[in-house]
Amino acid sequence: MAFKPEKPSIHGETPDSLGARLAEAGHPRYRAGQVFAWLYPKRAENAEVMTNLPADLRSWLTDNYDFNCAEVLGKKTASDVTQKLLQRLRDGSLIETVIIRAPMEGVGQDKSRRTICISTQVGCAYGCKFCASGLEGWKRDLSVGEIVSQLVQVCRIEDQTDPIRAAEGLASFDNIVVMGMGEPLANYDNLLAALKAVNAPWGFGFGARRITISTSGVVPKILKLAEEDLGFRLAISLHGATNEVREQIMPVNRKYPLEQLIPAAKVFARTHGRMLTLEFILIADINDSLDQARKLAVIARDLHAHVNLIPYNTVQGLPWVRPSITRQDRFVKELRALGVTATLRREKGHDIDAACGQLRLQKEKTLGADSSPPAAA
Ligand code: SAH
Ligand code: SF4
Repeated sequence: MAFKPEKPSIHGETPDSLGARLAEAGHPRYRAGQVFAWLYPKRAENAEVMTNLPADLRSWLTDNYDFNCAEVLGKKTASDVTQKLLQRLRDGSLIETVIIRAPMEGVGQDKSRRTICISTQVGCAYGCKFCASGLEGWKRDLSVGEIVSQLVQVCRIEDQTDPIRAAEGLASFDNIVVMGMGEPLANYDNLLAALKAVNAPWGFGFGARRITISTSGVVPKILKLAEEDLGFRLAISLHGATNEVREQIMPVNRKYPLEQLIPAAKVFARTHGRMLTLEFILIADINDSLDQARKLAVIARDLHAHVNLIPYNTVQGLPWVRPSITRQDRFVKELRALGVTATLRREKGHDIDAACGQLRLQKEKTLGADSSPPAAA
């Protein structure tokens, strides 16, 4: 169900594609470079600010492009410096972008390391049983412009408190994690085009190694990504160390069980020469036993992967419970004792429903917004 907006997003273009459209419309192709000098370094909010362009070109851009296809509806700030932006797309769909600040020692909060968590779909078809994003099914994929616009919006907001980076025209974040709403590898082409724009010298010039894509385990797409000569990092949402446990909470495991997922992850790690991350949400009495920790350790050691443990973030209406601190600690200790590097992420943003899809879900309920029925995984 593709959505065709009235005007395409300017952030969906590259200098080449914009140059071609300009030429078709009778403008010089080289003007595309001038437009791009405004778009990313200066986060231009409209064509009128592009004062070195002729007036007729500025009005052509205004008539033909959308400069702000992910309008910020609201912000929520948590006590632990996690901020969540709720954004409305042109068809009324809601998405979320999260800014996570990790304060650096000895510097003020405005100098903290900023990780931006972006969404790639409206809803999600994969239907993981613990996740708010999947609760109401998949609605549609985000376009390239909609994915990029989330980051441009963050820069526009952050520039207000970080004038130095803004003046240098640099991205006002340090890491990007593709862990918001949706399954990124199910929107593969748009995701890659968006990340290439973020990475390109004409975009944000942002290092590929600082971008992590998280997947629930779409095996053919992991293998495809492994073949691309791009340096993005990969995180795999494992959440179960055996098929039995994984299947209980992740329907995708029926299609791509561990016997397929682990070899695909290995191919990725080998071709990229990078450490993988295994994400593991701890849910009481589902996957938090010592037996699961031991089996997870075998997988992590085999893949030379880092394990990121995330205590389950409660979702209204779902039955799952976060394990006690004692059980969380017991799990991480067992992994470490077995030689695995593991972090227990006492997750940020619990008080603003920062787990993917939660804020949007609440808002959709209050707005009574329409959502399509869940699609099969
Ligand atoms: N679809 C991709 C990326 C988006 S989900 C994926 O599944 O990896 C990003 C991460 O948030 C995943 O690891 C997901 O399992 C986790 N997540 C979802 N709901 C959560 C919850 N209620 N508490 C904690 N983590 C959650
Ligand atoms: Fe989709 Fe990821 Fe949520 Fe699973 S955890 S439903 S794949 S967004």
